Order: sequence, then structure tokens, then C-alpha cells
Amino acid sequence: MNIVLMGLPGAGKGTQAEKIVDQFQIPHISTGDMFRSAIKEGTKMGLEAKSYMDQGLLVPDEVVIGIVNERLGKDDCNKGFLLDGFPRTVAQAEALDLLLEKLNKDIDAVVYIEVDQNSLMQRLTGRRICRDCGATYHVIYNPPKVEGTCDKCGGELYQRDDDKEETVATRLEVNLKQVEPLLSYYQKKEVLQSIDGNQDINKVFESVEKILRGLA
Ligand SMILES: [Zn+2]
Repeated sequence: MNIVLMGLPGAGKGTQAEKIVDQFQIPHISTGDMFRSAIKEGTKMGLEAKSYMDQGLLVPDEVVIGIVNERLGKDDCNKGFLLDGFPRTVAQAEALDLLLEKLNKDIDAVVYIEVDQNSLMQRLTGRRICRDCGATYHVIYNPPKVEGTCDKCGGELYQRDDDKEETVATRLEVNLKQVEPLLSYYQKKEVLQSIDGNQDINKVFESVEKILRGLA
């Protein structure tokens, strides 16, 4: 079962990824983890990636692909994998297809967790943090008893700049622009499965599970 998981920030991709790997016992391959372990193991591509990162440069696609290649060639991927955070661009998706062909593998499904923009804004801008003890709240999902005040220490709650509406709106827009061409790419290949991510976490997972069971 070879899966690519996609979703905009705030769509709940991380939670669903955890549930999928737990339920289906396949390795969770996220870009960050993959880079960290390649560098730690000192693989050829890991070392190359490190040389770029040490100079503060963006790691070029060919190196990223190289790391994905090393990772997907490992034995634990024989029964499947869940790719998370890769590919990000159509160029990467094309490179992934070539690489999978060489490994004699295929993508069975690209699962896209779709959440409407308003809900994403609500989810991503609602976080509040205590200035004194660092406790975190969410104005809708985990509100403090008294607005603007920490339950634990009475400290003042504030909103991080990253969580402000303008910043979040820009971030979503940038991500959406990147995601759209990828979605059409996978739609053309008839592997795209969009899931309604506006529902409760467990309901979302039920939909995911149904699709993945259908693949087996
Ligand atoms: Zn506090």
C-alpha cells in the first residue's frame, strides 16, 4: 500500500498520518524525518544535503529525490509507505514516478484532506499562548475559562505573529498555489482521493480507512 498524503496547513494531516501508520503498519516517511536520518546515517545523499544546509542554501531537487530514493529502497517499504510532505511540486511528482518505476513500485492513492478556507483560518488563527508559563489555548477548541487569561497561572494570553490572520492567509494562499497543480497531476493519473476534512477527526479517519481498505 503506497500512499501519498496531502493537505493544507491546519487540515489535520499529522493526526491522520499517525492513525494511518498505526492502523496499516506502514512506515511514515515525512520529509523532515527522512532528511534527519539520512544526515545522521551519513548516506551519500544525506551528506550532500548537509553541505547545502550548512551553507544556508536550499537543498536542490535532485538531492531531495536522491534521499527519497534511498529511503524508499529500504526493506521496511516493501509492504508499503506513507509519504508526507513530498512531493511538493509537479517536477518532484514526476521524478517520484520515475524513481518508483525503477523500484518497481506504484502510487496506489494520493489522499488529499480537504478543508474549506474559513475553517482553516479559524483553526490556524485561534491559538493563544500564556506570556508567563507558555501554556497554549485555542479560542474555539480549547478556550481558557476567562478570555485572555491563563487558567493555570493567571498570566496574559497573546497571539503569536505567525498565527495572525494576515500571516496565516498568506501562508494558505502560497500553499494552495503549490498544491493545486499537484492535485491536477494526480487527478489525471486517477489516483487522487479527496476526503472531506471538515468533519470530526475520527470521521475523517473512517473515510481514509474506507479508501485504503478498498485498495488492498
Ligand atoms: Zn500561564
